[in-house]
Amino acid sequence: MIQIEVNGKTLTAKEDDTILSAVRKAGLNIPTLCHMDGYPPSGACRICVVEVDGVNGLVPSCSAGVRDGMKIKTHSQRALEARKTIVELLLANHPDDCNYCVRNENCELQSLAAELGVRRRTYTGRREMLRIDASSPSIVRDPNKCILCGRCVRVCEEVQGVAAIDFTKRGSRAQIGTAFDQGLNLSCCINCGQCIVVCPTGALAENSHVKLVLDALSNPEKFCVVQHAPAISVTIAEELGCTAGSDYDGKMVAALRRIGFDRVFDTSFSADLTIMEEGSELIHRVKNNGVLPMITSCSPGWIKYLETFYPEFRPNVSTCKSPQQMLGAIIKSYFAEREGLKPDKVFSVSIMPCTAKKFEANRPEMAQDGIPDVDAVLTTRELGQILRMFGVDMNTIEPEAADTPFGTRSTAGKIFGASGGVMEAAVRSAYFLLTGTELSNLNLEAVRGLEGVKEAQVEINGLKVGVAVASGLGNAAKLLEQVKAGRKDLHFIEIMTCPGGCISGGGQPISADTNAVKARMKALYQIDASENLRTSHTNPDIKRIYEEFLGEPLGEKSHHLLHTHYAQREVVR
Ligand code: SF4
Ligand code: SF4
Ligand code: SF4
Repeated sequence: MIQIEVNGKTLTAKEDDTILSAVRKAGLNIPTLCHMDGYPPSGACRICVVEVDGVNGLVPSCSAGVRDGMKIKTHSQRALEARKTIVELLLANHPDDCNYCVRNENCELQSLAAELGVRRRTYTGRREMLRIDASSPSIVRDPNKCILCGRCVRVCEEVQGVAAIDFTKRGSRAQIGTAFDQGLNLSCCINCGQCIVVCPTGALAENSHVKLVLDALSNPEKFCVVQHAPAISVTIAEELGCTAGSDYDGKMVAALRRIGFDRVFDTSFSADLTIMEEGSELIHRVKNNGVLPMITSCSPGWIKYLETFYPEFRPNVSTCKSPQQMLGAIIKSYFAEREGLKPDKVFSVSIMPCTAKKFEANRPEMAQDGIPDVDAVLTTRELGQILRMFGVDMNTIEPEAADTPFGTRSTAGKIFGASGGVMEAAVRSAYFLLTGTELSNLNLEAVRGLEGVKEAQVEINGLKVGVAVASGLGNAAKLLEQVKAGRKDLHFIEIMTCPGGCISGGGQPISADTNAVKARMKALYQIDASENLRTSHTNPDIKRIYEEFLGEPLGEKSHHLLHTHYAQREVVR
């Protein structure tokens, strides 16, 4: 440990701290528009400059290391003026669009300009109307609002291992773009939306389905049904300005009814259904020398990544559709039939933590007789927008239960929202399906938490079942490379596109709270610990749907409605 002086006060820092990390640990903040915690510094924006005694110029605090006895002024007049000038220069060719911008009131550039007292346009730069790329079913890119911080490029390459976007052109014409400047839909983008979550401005956003949903809600010809993914109830509160990790399950159900949905279902129910189908598929593969390790299929960004970068693993991936698509297919068949509705009269909306779900719902194979299983997908952020638009007061609204016939979910379905949750839920049911008895301890602690790769061994009927969980596709690639190199001890792998799973999906609230993801995960496991129905195979509504409609897991109806296949795609980057 060493001693440094910050603004006249002595602080202790580690030898390998940067000025920025040491100052932040001491509870002070220095603003930055390019830095991301946990990544090596890029020093791109220079907003974080500080004065250091004995150094002539200003020093970028994100990339300068501390040394013993260093004297630093973080908010000297010179540093503040430099920051203000940088922001004024960034705004010189920035559109004056805040009122129309998706990030209005949650934009780092806007907030910083306000904090630094930028109240008039000091410089006027050349403004070109650059083409907005709305080609992707998931993401819209507006290069006019881009400040070239590079965060999106880094997350796409360093976390997801995709590299669909990069810096293109030079000098004042530099932009973020795709290979050959094609639309994002033609690139190798896997639609994860992690670039949106790290973008400090409105240059990246989801392809909004809000209007589509509002039109359907006001159309008397449509019977509007909504499902919400397991992670939404623990993140919508945050989107509405409440504490991270608050569970708004029942309140959200009530709110969805108030804004006009005819039925409200929980995707955790079809997560239970996924476990029945996927667990049975795993057992079938183990008993019949099928392709192993089997890999989960519920994360659509991962599926596009598989199809693009690892097509040789297609036989390993479960043929199960994702819970979103399973419930979509069941709503337009079993539910529509039960209610006497024609499938094309049902407008099926899903609320998802994930931008890739918009792409998934759009896949041609996710339809029956040309009628899509899911008609519109809202992210948590879009749901927040609609709830604010309708003036729903979540503080006063009374919680309500989900609708029949899919009103009951187990907590195994609920923990799908966190990395490791699918695996834990699957192990609980696979153990029962193979042994006829319940696990004495339902918790599989080894696969919980935010580490990128987690592993465990579970003994079932004398067989040592090797399981692994990866979240973030860079981590998944490491695991897949081990399997390619001949690793044989794994039977089942869970892969989630986003680091930490759906709780940090690309459609989740964009939050400055660095502990938000941990709070969201904790909330899901608290729900699991506090309820009694903790296994998918004991869910009475799951038993009933097999009795009344599906027959048995992996049966003919399931095969037709709940399973799918995968394509091979070209890598364009
Ligand atoms: S990106 Fe930020 S500063 Fe730019 S228009 Fe949008 S809200 Fe305003
Ligand atoms: S959505 Fe994901 S894959 Fe596509 S550009 Fe953004 S980070 Fe890269
Ligand atoms: S699109 Fe956003 S994250 Fe990417 S460089 Fe531009 S401002 Fe930064």
